[in-house]
Amino acid sequence: MTTLLPFPRLRNLTSALAGSPKRDQMALADAFGRVATDLRVSLTDRCNLRCAYCMPPEGLDWLPGADVLTDEEIVRLIAIGVERLGITTVRLTGGEPLLRKNLELLVADIAALFPTPEIALTTNGIGLAARAEKLAAAGLKRINISLDTLDPDTFAQLARRRRLPDVLAGVAAAREAGLQPVKINTVLLRDINDHEAFDLLQWAMSEQVQLRFIEQMPLDPQHGWKRDEMITADEIRQRLGQHVELVEDPEDAVARGSAPAELFRVAGTDYRVGIIASVSKPFCGSCDRVRLTADGQIRNCLFARTESDLRTPLRTGASEDEIAARWVAAVAGKQPGHGINDPSFLQPDRPMSAIGG
Ligand code: SAM
Repeated sequence: MTTLLPFPRLRNLTSALAGSPKRDQMALADAFGRVATDLRVSLTDRCNLRCAYCMPPEGLDWLPGADVLTDEEIVRLIAIGVERLGITTVRLTGGEPLLRKNLELLVADIAALFPTPEIALTTNGIGLAARAEKLAAAGLKRINISLDTLDPDTFAQLARRRRLPDVLAGVAAAREAGLQPVKINTVLLRDINDHEAFDLLQWAMSEQVQLRFIEQMPLDPQHGWKRDEMITADEIRQRLGQHVELVEDPEDAVARGSAPAELFRVAGTDYRVGIIASVSKPFCGSCDRVRLTADGQIRNCLFARTESDLRTPLRTGASEDEIAARWVAAVAGKQPGHGINDPSFLQPDRPMSAIGG
């Protein structure tokens, strides 16, 4: 049994930063009027699944351990983000963030920052059953769990590991721990799990979790993505529409803001299913996200072909002001859109698992 150390471990560091009276708030604004407030932090590029659309069976060349930010470095950067740069939400992701040692302590350190950001986690759910309560106690509020199928054999085929029961136990534990909302991320692949769209919806409705289908994006290291094989948002609607009526409520459109998912209410219920049409209906114009990779690079977009290094200044004695200024400059150069639909589109060198989904 693991015993939690008293946390936050880094209170001295973070309260020293919070107490600085001379700090000026800056915004992470770009040239197109967007302001980044949602920080996605990748805690590791490693994963314990090998989902066919994300990673080859043999895994990838993992980042060398020395390149990966330490807990102290991560908290220092997040502190700069929330205290100086207007970051209000921090989503921990990966790779698989539950593989990060002491995740509960890291969450507690982030929760001790002021102003406290809303802390969310994106995970495949393996091992979550034993940790959901501790994560919630440490300050985790929201969770997204990836689940593409309810069939154990399809799971084993798609994720190349036979772990469906662990994921389902993780979903149940997340709910019991009071994480709210529990969202389920689903990628449908043609002729593999696309016939399960409605089964997944029925399951999500009965489990009271929020299902969101995500269009498959060209981010796999194998470069196997093919536009004409992708299951589009329209196709997902059609498939669900064979079983239930999906209603577009005007108030959902107004409330959507920067959320990637377009919501559809299942007629006769209050349940809303989300569809994230990253490829067929990009929502870059309302993007409020910025990403920090496990090795300390700022990325403005999943599809960015450039990054800004914060690890080197962090490790060579730069001040909080200098790091903040670099971060501001990085976001100022954000492109207007991801460009997937441009003829000149080139897939980024880093795959999704090494960026942080
Ligand atoms: N391991 C965690 C998980 O499984 O949620 C976090 C990282 S994973 C890269 C985050 C999300 O990205 C998952 O929901 C996964 O299904 C999704 N994903 C990975 N590759 C994708 C792709 N090429 N297109 C769309 N979604 C993808």
